[in-house]
Amino acid sequence: MKECVFCEIIAGKMPADFVYEDDEIVAFRDINPQAPVHILVVPRKHYSTLLDLKSEDTELAGKMILVANEVAKKFNIHNRGYRLVFNCNREAGQSIYHLHLHLLGGRIMMWPPG
Ligand code: 5GP
Ligand code: ZN
Repeated sequence: MKECVFCEIIAGKMPADFVYEDDEIVAFRDINPQAPVHILVVPRKHYSTLLDLKSEDTELAGKMILVANEVAKKFNIHNRGYRLVFNCNREAGQSIYHLHLHLLGGRIMMWPPG
């Protein structure tokens, strides 16, 4: 099986700039930031896409949002505003097939996104 870059980061085999860690979820800075704050919230368990989430993963999926909220507070962008994004599959632009939630903030966001 081809190695997953986020599994490698979570296993400590590849460096990343972590901003949050617990037993289920980590968050680290995106290597190619699209905003002044661009953090990836990532479950330790490997799911390729959103479509791999099952009903028993509901709590984990919800917790990813709560972690993103905490990170937004940590970076003090929570009152200005921030955006949370899941890209699922090719047309949405998913490039890493390990589930992750983008937290973007620190600038004015456009709508609709490109
Ligand atoms: P996607 O396009 O799959 O929604 O988002 C993947 C994100 O992962 C991209 O924003 C990309 O910049 C980021 N990324 C890709 N490889 C690495 C890496 O090795 N380290 C970090 N920190 N981010 C990465
Ligand atoms: Zn993985």
